[in-house]
Amino acid sequence: MIFLKSEYEIAKMRDAAILVSRTLAEVAKEIQPGVETGSLDIIAEEFIKKNNARPAFKGYGPKDNPFPATLCISINEEVVHGIPGSRKLEEGDIVSIDCGVEKDGYFGDHAYTFAVGECDPEDIKLMKVTLESLYKGIDAAVHGNKTGDIGYAIQQHCEKEGYGVVRDLVGHGIGKSMHEDPSVPNYGKPNRGERLRSGMTLAVEPMITQGDWKVKTLSDKWTIVTADGSKAAHFEHDVVVREGEAEILSTFDYITEITKNEIFQTH
Ligand code: MG
Ligand code: MG
Repeated sequence: MIFLKSEYEIAKMRDAAILVSRTLAEVAKEIQPGVETGSLDIIAEEFIKKNNARPAFKGYGPKDNPFPATLCISINEEVVHGIPGSRKLEEGDIVSIDCGVEKDGYFGDHAYTFAVGECDPEDIKLMKVTLESLYKGIDAAVHGNKTGDIGYAIQQHCEKEGYGVVRDLVGHGIGKSMHEDPSVPNYGKPNRGERLRSGMTLAVEPMITQGDWKVKTLSDKWTIVTADGSKAAHFEHDVVVREGEAEILSTFDYITEITKNEIFQTH
C-alpha cells in the first residue's frame, strides 16, 4: 500500500531527514584512520536522543537477531548493514554510513560513503559515480514517471563505467514506517514498475560495486558483502515525488561542510 503524504506530513519527514543529515555530519567529524566504528555509533545515538528522536535501526529486524546499533557501517567490500564494533577504520578505506531516525512518528533514512584519509583514485571514482547515479535517479522521481525510470537512470549511469548494480537490496517508500511500498530498485526499464505520484515519499539508495552485482550475507545475518570481494559504495536520500522535479528532504550539505572535499560536493 502506497501512502501519499500531506504537506504537514512532509514537513515532519523533512525534520526527520534533516536530523539524519546532521547526525551523519557529527559522525563525519570523527572519521579518520584508527577510529573504532563502535565509537562512531555512540556519537550518533547520543546526538539523535539529544534531539528528541529515536535511532530507528536499533532493534529493527527479527526478534531473535535485531539490528544492534544506531548506524550501519559498511567498509570496503561490505555493501550495507555492517554492524559497528571494535574494528578500526584504516587509511584508504571507503565506508558507507547509513542512519535512520524516528522523530514525531516519521522516519528519515539516509546514507553517505566516506573516504578514510587518502583513497585509491579508483575507489574515489566509484564513490563519485555512485553519488552521481543517486541524483540521476532522483531526477527521474517525478510525477507521472514509474519506479523503473529511477532504476534505469541509476543502472545506465553505473553500468557504463563497468560497475555492478546490486539487485538484492533496493530503495523504498518511507513515511510513518521506515520501509513502505513501493520498492525502488536501482535497475530497471523505463515506464515499468509502480506509477509515481506527487506526495509519494521515497528513499532512493544506489548500492554499486566495482565488480559483479551479486552479494552474500555474513554469519552475523546482517552484513551484506559483495560475493566477489570488490568494493561497494552506497548513497541515500529521502525525496518527495512532485510535478516536474523531486524535492530532496535530506541533505549532504552538513557533511560537505566537514569533509571540504570537492569530490563529495552535492548536486
Ligand atoms: Mg538507509
Ligand atoms: Mg533505506
